[in-house]
Amino acid sequence: MTKLIKKIKESKDKKVWDVVVLGGGPAGMMTAATVAARGKQVLLLEKNNSLGKKLLITGGGRCNVTNNKPVVREMLKNYQTAGKFLFSTFDQHGVTETIEWFTNRAVSLKEENSGRMFPVSDSAQSIWDALYKDLQKFNVEIRTRQTVTGIIHDDDEHRFTIQLSNKNSILAHSCVVATGGTSRPETGSTGEGFSWLASFGHTIRTNDYALVPIALKDEWVKSLGGVSLEKVKLTLLADDKKHSVYTGKLLFTHFGISGPMILNMSRTVGDVLQHSTATLALDIMPELDAGALRIKLQELLVTESNRKLKNVLAKLIPSALVTPLLTLAKIDGETPSHSVRSAARTSLVARMKSIVLTVDHLLGAEKAIITDGGVTLTEIDFKNIESRLVPGLYIVGDLLDINRPSGGYSLQICWSTGYVAGMHA
Ligand SMILES: Cc1cc2nc3c(=O)[nH]c(=O)nc-3n(C[C@H](O)[C@H](O)[C@H](O)COP(=O)(O)OP(=O)(O)OC[C@H]3O[C@@H](n4cnc5c(N)ncnc54)[C@H](O)[C@@H]3O)c2cc1C
Repeated sequence: MTKLIKKIKESKDKKVWDVVVLGGGPAGMMTAATVAARGKQVLLLEKNNSLGKKLLITGGGRCNVTNNKPVVREMLKNYQTAGKFLFSTFDQHGVTETIEWFTNRAVSLKEENSGRMFPVSDSAQSIWDALYKDLQKFNVEIRTRQTVTGIIHDDDEHRFTIQLSNKNSILAHSCVVATGGTSRPETGSTGEGFSWLASFGHTIRTNDYALVPIALKDEWVKSLGGVSLEKVKLTLLADDKKHSVYTGKLLFTHFGISGPMILNMSRTVGDVLQHSTATLALDIMPELDAGALRIKLQELLVTESNRKLKNVLAKLIPSALVTPLLTLAKIDGETPSHSVRSAARTSLVARMKSIVLTVDHLLGAEKAIITDGGVTLTEIDFKNIESRLVPGLYIVGDLLDINRPSGGYSLQICWSTGYVAGMHA
């Protein structure tokens, strides 16, 4: 009995924070900075020894901050079925407000291909710095090396007890869960948040990996690691039947293929792999049809008739592809151009228009950009990002079940949900 009285007294004496934010990624940093700017007492808990580890590796270290689609309706089309939930959130803080937010903090942004926006500095560090300065300016208490192990909600007291792995606990009137998904676990995103939220009754759509590179069975591809092709066409075949077609940039890696086009098609490839074999027909010269390509090749072989075929081909296709292409077409690259027979020319053109790549598997958490799945959106009030099940509980960033392509759309979810939660928590 005395123990219980002592415990109650202790918890009465203990500080109760206005808001405690769990997880110091981009969504947590944005939320904490925004709440604190409203004069609230905010504590930010992060298990790593520093904030925003994943943020610093975004966009290859350059951070694709957002996508320049200032019209909310246009922007939201990219979030597919999740788009309809996000209107009120993006109306409060969408792309325009995000660009302003960073510009007001002396971080100018520039636009690159397909609307992708990056800091002019080409460094994710400038985005990190801008967020961190606000955390400091508005006196957010940042505690790193603090692993949260659970959250308890006391209905009568209207407050949360946040439990830490060091057996300490923290009290808060509002609690923001910003612990991210499960992609790239070495950055700290290990998915604990999902189990706490499930224990509150939230439905978690099983998380899988989205936007992942593709591993291929073809050994020869692996020697091309690092080679990129600016504009190619890929036809996905399910059990050898045409399934879908994609165009864009392709990057060869030591395990297969990656790059924006591959990341965006990876979900579909994953679906195909559930029931069928998946192969990809790679067209490295999509702007020319087979007839036009054959004429072009013929012209080259005539004008360069005394040179070796392998040297002539390098004028038509990226030089890194010459040897693999010749090997696949079973043609000796040492052959002088004037001796390349018609059948060999046909075979070469056929290969250039369709190199067959066999999908082995999709890469998992260690290579994924985002996780697919998360907290079901009907359980969130998107006017304030509050849980509809637990008053005072806010859920932001990668924890939400929002499907999106690559191109700055993931971080925009962090800025929008983080800011709006921060304005209401
Ligand atoms: C390689 C790579 C490149 C990317 N590039 C881009 C890009 O250019 N543009 C874009 O829009 N998106 C990009 N993304 C996606 C983007 O990084 C994520 O959408 C974003 O980081 C999600 O932010 P978050 O704050 O929700 O979660 P996270 O960034 O995952 O942060 C969660 C934080 O919570 C902490 N945490 C977790 N569990 C606990 C716990 N139990 N206790 C305490 N703290 C905890 C973690 O340590 C982490 O710091 C990229 C992702 C990857 C992996």
